[in-house]
Amino acid sequence: PDGSLIDLLGDAVQRFGDRVALEFFGAETTYAELGRRVARAAEGLRRLGVGAGDRVAIVLPNCPEHIVAFYAVLRLGAVVVEHNPLYTRGELEHQFRDHGATVAIAWDKVAPLVREMPGVRHVVAVDMTASMPLGKRLALRLPIAKARAARAQLTARAPGATPWPRLLDQGAVFESHARPTADDLAVIQYTSGTTGSPKGAMLTHRNLGANAAQGRAWVPGLVAGREVVYAVLPMFHAYGLTLCLTFAMSIGARLVLFPKPDVELVLAAARKHPPTFLPAVPPIYDRLARAAVERGIDLSSARFAISGAMPLTTEILERWEAATGGLLVEGYGMTEASPVVLGNPVGRSRRPGAVGVPFPSTEIRVVDPEEPSRDRAPGEAGELLVRGPQVFGGYWGKPDETAATLLPGGWLRTGDIVEVDADGFVTIVDRIKEIIISGGFNVMPSEVEATLVRFEGVTDAAVVGLPRDDGSEQVVAAVTVDGDVDLEALREHCRGSLAAYKVPRRIEVVDELPRSQIGKVLRREVRERLLAD
Ligand code: ATP
Ligand code: MG
Repeated sequence: PDGSLIDLLGDAVQRFGDRVALEFFGAETTYAELGRRVARAAEGLRRLGVGAGDRVAIVLPNCPEHIVAFYAVLRLGAVVVEHNPLYTRGELEHQFRDHGATVAIAWDKVAPLVREMPGVRHVVAVDMTASMPLGKRLALRLPIAKARAARAQLTARAPGATPWPRLLDQGAVFESHARPTADDLAVIQYTSGTTGSPKGAMLTHRNLGANAAQGRAWVPGLVAGREVVYAVLPMFHAYGLTLCLTFAMSIGARLVLFPKPDVELVLAAARKHPPTFLPAVPPIYDRLARAAVERGIDLSSARFAISGAMPLTTEILERWEAATGGLLVEGYGMTEASPVVLGNPVGRSRRPGAVGVPFPSTEIRVVDPEEPSRDRAPGEAGELLVRGPQVFGGYWGKPDETAATLLPGGWLRTGDIVEVDADGFVTIVDRIKEIIISGGFNVMPSEVEATLVRFEGVTDAAVVGLPRDDGSEQVVAAVTVDGDVDLEALREHCRGSLAAYKVPRRIEVVDELPRSQIGKVLRREVRERLLAD
């Protein structure tokens, strides 16, 4: 696409004007109203001094103001930087120091903290409950008093603070105000930090617009202006950002916003406007399908469900499809690619266990990770490289890491080991950084984990390598269990199906495995915890 995301929104306002764009606890906003609020918020931000190229931090859960803020920042040619509002002070500080935003739009509960971030001179505080009907606010028993206290503290202590409604009071940005172009930077999106510190991926309007267009081409039978998309994924993560903030808007969907992926909230909303399209991650599908079946709630409206970010088990896939009668297909992506690059066909030819085939106008290669210029023979496992219009231009302020990740010719190193079968379907084997070298042999943690969870009573497993004196690593597992599990018998089971060097030397039972903001198991943290023991 040659337009910017502002053109994407403008088209949606033109085509779907009086249709509902956003629903939040029953409160509705039409596309026309969304367009007006974006223009007014843009003017408010302009008066705070925001201009082209400036980074503006958004620190919000999913709520209508999040979408308005996103497009208002872009309207000025400025750059959105998304943050998890539940991040700790240290995690936020790391990001603010990196991107250097001076203006932030933050959830009022965290606004005082954001005001203290390095470089920040102005915070716009959003009271999410303001856009909820009063009855809902009370019924939900949201911590309103706490939020008010935080706001009061903010205005008392910080001169550089504005309540969100005041931002919108100053009229609309002039139509003639310069608009961004497709090649301008739109978003700095941080990676999940699974293998190291989060890195800021620079995504242009073209990158993000391309991924939304690829998504539209991918899903057959989408009806513009008629779909109901549920935003249960956080929009501060690449996956939720593209599916909800750009893709859903571009098809004129009713986007139902959830500030957290809460089964009760989702099932309550489904009674009124049931979802037709529900992008999520496996743990959410699992919880929703179980709850819907238990309580006899009809989710048959959900024709499409797209899973990504972590492996989808056949068990969860089958449970979801049985509960809804719709399709659940798995895709694959990464922040650096806006994020989707592979997807299963949305139809019965989808392949459980595989992450699919390349998206439209996306090319892939499988190479030797030691020497990425060398392609693997067909069928042989290797590192996945990706090229396409959704692939980013580099990491913010990290030229060395950019050079190591983006190869000449525009090929993105994914850091994931994959296999491609004769029909072109890709299966993820493991991440290169998490492969364990035990006694000179490579051990794929995923293979050991799969063996562990096949044992009766083991509910989940994470396998990591801990350093040994001789410089190699030993295989260690952390498992969660249901009931009593005999660890000696579990090791015996591993010996029965794995080569000796893959069998965990140590197996620790833990209460739960550490997970990322969207539920991915963080093997790096498992490793740190085991090392500390
Ligand atoms: P960091 O790059 O900071 O270490 P991260 O790679 O986890 O963190 P993301 O960009 O959110 O950050 O995640 C991309 C990664 O998620 C991919 O490289 C891949 O390892 C994993 N992934 C994505 N989709 C799937 C999937 N369907 N199945 C298995 N793994 C997946
Ligand atoms: Mg990554």
